[in-house]
Amino acid sequence: MDNLIYKSTRGHGDPVSASKAILRGIAEDGGLFVPSFIPKIDFNVKEFSKLNYKELAYTVMSKFFTDFTEEELKSCIDKAYDDKFDTKEIAPVKKIGDDFFLELHHGPTLAFKDVALSILPHLLKTSVKKQGIDKEVLILTATSGDTGKAALEGFNNVEGTKIIVFYPEVGVSIVQELQMTTHDGDNTFVVAIKGNFDDAQKAVKEIFTDNKMREQLDGKGFMFSSANSINIGRLIPQVVYYFSAYLDLYKKGEISEGDKINVVVPTGNFGDILAGYFAKSMGLPLDKLICASNKNKVLCDFINTGKYDRNREFYVTNSPSMDILVSSNLERLLYFISGENPEKIQSLMDALSTKGEYSIDEDMKNKLKDFYAGYASETETCEAITELYKTHKEAIDTHTAVAYSVYKKYKENTKDDTKTVILSTASPFKFPKAVMSSIDKKYDDVNEFELIKELSKIAHYAIPQGIRDIDTKPKVHNTVCDKKDIKNVVLDFLKIK
Ligand SMILES: *Cc1c(COP(=O)(O)O)cnc(C)c1O
Repeated sequence: MDNLIYKSTRGHGDPVSASKAILRGIAEDGGLFVPSFIPKIDFNVKEFSKLNYKELAYTVMSKFFTDFTEEELKSCIDKAYDDKFDTKEIAPVKKIGDDFFLELHHGPTLAFKDVALSILPHLLKTSVKKQGIDKEVLILTATSGDTGKAALEGFNNVEGTKIIVFYPEVGVSIVQELQMTTHDGDNTFVVAIKGNFDDAQKAVKEIFTDNKMREQLDGKGFMFSSANSINIGRLIPQVVYYFSAYLDLYKKGEISEGDKINVVVPTGNFGDILAGYFAKSMGLPLDKLICASNKNKVLCDFINTGKYDRNREFYVTNSPSMDILVSSNLERLLYFISGENPEKIQSLMDALSTKGEYSIDEDMKNKLKDFYAGYASETETCEAITELYKTHKEAIDTHTAVAYSVYKKYKENTKDDTKTVILSTASPFKFPKAVMSSIDKKYDDVNEFELIKELSKIAHYAIPQGIRDIDTKPKVHNTVCDKKDIKNVVLDFLKIK
């Protein structure tokens, strides 16, 4: 198999193997690692439809992680996709009315982040071994709400690793916060940051590129890595479920060989939808990649105008995992649509950091034609939940509702009746307040934990294992810190002074 190498989107530093890129998380020049080309797959739908999720995962991931042996990669996949998911399909498609929902929330923390974060720790451990490194890996992760718990769960007591999660003090749901602050593992630490997700992400990225800090930790036997979707070990496992969704529709007789489908992706950091772009570039018959934003619609505006402008108000919405104004992974898309031109990416990213905005040229804009973008206001998000419950007695979470709302507008505007899969990225149990209030105003004043029980009753879903005792678990993390003190918090946790 051809050896695929990874380069920085900003062009500096030597190209590295997949395992090195996974270990480093982010390139030393602050750019993101991208494969030197997106590998093609010989997509024979009849053959592929015989594969189970693990086999499919191997087929897709082995194209990208070419320096892993078959045995190594299969062992990672086996450990990841087991009964910690409460459905054997891992990512089932559910038809509601005429619409298809790809349910990515059957993992231990009830959000799609589990799909990648259940395998990342194993990819990382394998990479440490492959590279002959004798250091402990310190994972630093910023979260807008869902990555945090999924990463804590994934790395919990994984030998040779420690993990610190930074989440914004304001914005995450009560369930999300409790999932993190009650997490009890020997190697895990959780910190609330005074600020929003962008502040947390920026502070963590700065630590990664801080050579002094890197050397200091190196001397103490630690190396950094990231569990955010800037890590290609997060991104590539997400490519798999675009294939599984397509195959699911094929097996159900909803589409025939060669048919194209659209996907709608509720988007924040642009990781999930970028995985869809990778799947399409590999040869999966995807037509439109529909990018759904919430009220923080910076991506929607970018795709429609070619101008990225983060100089705007930041809103705390009822879909907090998408409350982001600086979408990291967009840098990877820019790299590919610029004809793999790192100088151009460097100058766009410089403009973003100095002026908070940049515009792309006509050439690049034309290459955005794979994408369609829309957004849903807070009211529209709630209405989407209300409507789906009224007509089908099904509850969806707020992020999925953003996607559903944007899809309905897309269909109305374009009259496109191509079969479309909506990515259902979280369980409604994670956001009981917003979901239940949308279903009926009478729930407005009921507390979250009662609402979880009520949701289970009215929608006939069992309460997922991951949150069953969340209200009675002891809180083990209380640290709140200013973003300028992040470095000290890290050193304290590691007992380095
Ligand atoms: C993280 C998250 C998103 C956004 O995904 P990105 O890869 O950041 O675009 C959407 N929905 C939920 C529930 C999430 O947790």
